[in-house]
Amino acid sequence: MAEADPLRVLVVDDDPSGLALLTRYLTGAGYEVLTAANGVEAMRVLVTEGAPIVVTDWLMPEMDGLELCRAIRMHEGIPFAFVIIVTACQKADDRLVEAFDAGADDYLCRPYKPKELLARLRAGERIVRLQREVDSRNREVHRYNAEIEIAYRKLAAANEELNRMARTDELTGLINRREALVRLGDCWAYAERRGGPLACIALDLDRFKNTNDTYGHAVGDVVLKETASILRASARRDEPVCRIGGEEFLIIRPRSTEAMAAVAAERLRQAVETNAIQHGNLTLRITISAGVAQRTSDMENPDDLLRAADNALYAAKDAGRNTVRLAGTANRLPSVDDSFDEFDAPVASNNSCRTVPG
Ligand code: GH3
Ligand code: MG
Ligand code: MG
Repeated sequence: MAEADPLRVLVVDDDPSGLALLTRYLTGAGYEVLTAANGVEAMRVLVTEGAPIVVTDWLMPEMDGLELCRAIRMHEGIPFAFVIIVTACQKADDRLVEAFDAGADDYLCRPYKPKELLARLRAGERIVRLQREVDSRNREVHRYNAEIEIAYRKLAAANEELNRMARTDELTGLINRREALVRLGDCWAYAERRGGPLACIALDLDRFKNTNDTYGHAVGDVVLKETASILRASARRDEPVCRIGGEEFLIIRPRSTEAMAAVAAERLRQAVETNAIQHGNLTLRITISAGVAQRTSDMENPDDLLRAADNALYAAKDAGRNTVRLAGTANRLPSVDDSFDEFDAPVASNNSCRTVPG
């Protein structure tokens, strides 16, 4: 096996003349040779300098060849080493099994011909080089796996961000129309199952076109953002505040009657009216109108509830704006399930009605 880099062989023998002879021979054969006089010394060399092939005598003081084999196999800091153990021939039959059990890869009976040692070393060398190839491929596989893991995490984060963006109104950071309809559908289904009340508030900025026409679209955007944060800050934590159109907002109120929602709508109206919006030198006073409706037994789907709230909103506009109107749905309410517990309904700050068990 013609390889550019000579392999390192550690020769272990307590007989200095045998050691010198073997060193000369193996160096001549193209190996880089390290030596040790016993197992303890051999372990030190293996840990500090390393050698992929070890040729060790069996009988040595301090730590013999067999113990050395075991120590090599047990030491986590020593990578794979091909170990050839040299033993007296007459003992071979009985003790070779013991040697292989201890971790030896091959053996040589003394006296042996140098050519035989060389042949066994070549065999060991092939295994060592294959092992190195396997190790390097394993490292590559690990690296690929790590890269795939990183890429997967980035993808998951990007997906999460995309999902978030798909649910969020870019300008105000509120829940967008699409997500609002999903939430309303969830709350509707929950109310239908449990018989609890469900209300919503439709809100619309008054004469917002004037703001745009007078101060420009950019200032209009600031007004929308500021109004959104006033609504978010003034709404209950578990009620989704959504931007469902240009200057239209929707607040979903799980567990709320029309009367309760009307109180909340009036609070929101006042909050917007009293919070003057500062922008540069400008002080802008904005008002909103609101329409409130509650789910009733004659409504078929969430659209009916939205329509009822919208009609109430139109009534508020007709009444001169900056006011709240009720859809009057309270007197045709669904029958309330006696088992309904207000505090049993879903409460999740930005995920209302979505965590409801089936
Ligand atoms: P009303 O009191 O009847 O609701 O009157 P209004 O002027 O608020 O209603 P109208 O529907 O006539 O005008 C709404 C305006 O909202 C028109 C549109 O240009 C503006 N608008 C919609 N979306 C945006 C937006 O994202 N940014 C800005 N700056 N303006 C927007
Ligand atoms: Mg000896
Ligand atoms: Mg408007």
